[in-house]
Amino acid sequence: MTTSGGSVTTATQSTGRRPRVVIVGSGFGGLFAAKQLRKAPVDITLVAKTTHHLFQPLLYQVATGILSEGEIAPATREILRDQDNARVVLGEVTDIDTTARTVTSVVLGRTSVHEYDELIVAAGAGQSYFGNDQFAEFAPGMKSIDDALELRGRIFGAFELAELATAPEEIDRLLTFVVVGAGPTGVEMAGQIAELARRTLRKDFRHIDPTSARVILLDAAPKVLPPFVDKLGEAAAKKLKSIGVEIQLGAMVTDVDADGIVVKDKDGHERRIHAATKIWAAGVQASPLGKLLGEQTGAEVDRAGRISVQPDLTLPGHPEIQVVGDMMSLNRLPGVAQVAIQGGRFAASAIQARIAGRPTKPEFVYHDKGSMATISRFDAVADLGKIKFSGFFAWVMWLLVHIVYVVGFKSRFTTVVGWAVSFLGRGRGQRTATQQQVYGRLALEQLGSDFEVSKTGGRHHYGEKVDVTGRESA
Ligand SMILES: Cc1cc2nc3c(=O)[nH]c(=O)nc-3n(C[C@H](O)[C@H](O)[C@H](O)COP(=O)(O)OP(=O)(O)OC[C@H]3O[C@@H](n4cnc5c(N)ncnc54)[C@H](O)[C@@H]3O)c2cc1C
Repeated sequence: MTTSGGSVTTATQSTGRRPRVVIVGSGFGGLFAAKQLRKAPVDITLVAKTTHHLFQPLLYQVATGILSEGEIAPATREILRDQDNARVVLGEVTDIDTTARTVTSVVLGRTSVHEYDELIVAAGAGQSYFGNDQFAEFAPGMKSIDDALELRGRIFGAFELAELATAPEEIDRLLTFVVVGAGPTGVEMAGQIAELARRTLRKDFRHIDPTSARVILLDAAPKVLPPFVDKLGEAAAKKLKSIGVEIQLGAMVTDVDADGIVVKDKDGHERRIHAATKIWAAGVQASPLGKLLGEQTGAEVDRAGRISVQPDLTLPGHPEIQVVGDMMSLNRLPGVAQVAIQGGRFAASAIQARIAGRPTKPEFVYHDKGSMATISRFDAVADLGKIKFSGFFAWVMWLLVHIVYVVGFKSRFTTVVGWAVSFLGRGRGQRTATQQQVYGRLALEQLGSDFEVSKTGGRHHYGEKVDVTGRESA
């Protein structure tokens, strides 16, 4: 048992005010930490660069038209509406000063500085292109609502353009979908595009036959679903093949452009796949805040940007800073929602213990509740430790677990309706995608990082800094 971290007691004793807890991120780690502190005598500031909590495991369903973005991304402010000790602040955290104990966030040129007595950092991870960031232009990843909506537009748009095309090779290119990465996200995505083509869109076109679409799932690794045992990976591969997905393993992507993708096979042979739609579901890179904290605290940061934490999730010499979820590295724990949720709760409990003068737990112990991945409707794989199975019952279990975890009653109800439409019928209720969704990311990249707009539209530069601490910000 440790009693580390006199920071809370010191702050409270010297000023008489409540301890200030700053939480970075409204994902699984940040949100569950905030909720765990709902009855604690603290003032929480939750800073995140989006206004929503995102249920990332269902992003692929937004991309393929099953669910709407609102169903998997409820407003954080709404979730914490009744939690009086929590304030939600929009902003991208650009700096953390571990000496001054401040977190700086920026939104649309407006800078805010938040002082903390306790800090929980849960900024997650983004997509990694393994040093080939130029691939992103043609092969979007799937980490955010923006990504999912862009992909939705590209996927449905490819069928539209194919209907207009006349040259057979052009139709083939437009009706070829390549998913890079055969982990759970890639498997789910490939399965859903195949079902979309073969079930949902089967009768919707006159010139093209959507069921002839090629869906290719490729990976440099030698197996499908590497995190799962071989038996489940093989079951997933078999099922995917049965619904028409081509699986290409040992295939490393060497180039991506507008018209296709170049892969190098194990024997060194390079070949080109002509495909209009490429989806990147391989590799993660932790938030740059990990590197920033590593530089200040001496904690190690690995190649994927994850920061090594102490067994109690704190940083060396900084019992007041805890890092949880995808951006931390501890005992090779996987980047999954449960690690972030349990880490967030653990961090919050440590703060509560210190406030109450109780000893904190010396070690975060992760309880593995198993993992699952859907392959197609009515089919999934489930690894529950000693029990590993695939098929319909695995899918029912996936369904129940996800209904429980989709945050908020409103989302839960509409999500079930969306699933009923897609799984029992052939429909997909969310097929709309706008031009802005498809081209917005690329257009913004063209404008560069200096481009700023006002909230009401048009170019604008505030140049104004808001100091929420009452003193001038740096
Ligand atoms: C497509 C996909 C499918 C997945 N499927 C599964 C699954 O089936 N099962 C499973 O267990 N896990 C799954 N995962 C992994 C799971 O979603 C993550 O492990 C989990 O979200 C990690 O939680 P987190 O709190 O660490 O980070 P996130 O949930 O990513 O939250 C990070 C938060 O930090 C905010 N943020 C980031 N940078 C900044 C900044 N500089 N300033 C302010 N805010 C910032 C973000 O806006 C966000 O609110 C999936 C992930 C993806 C992308």
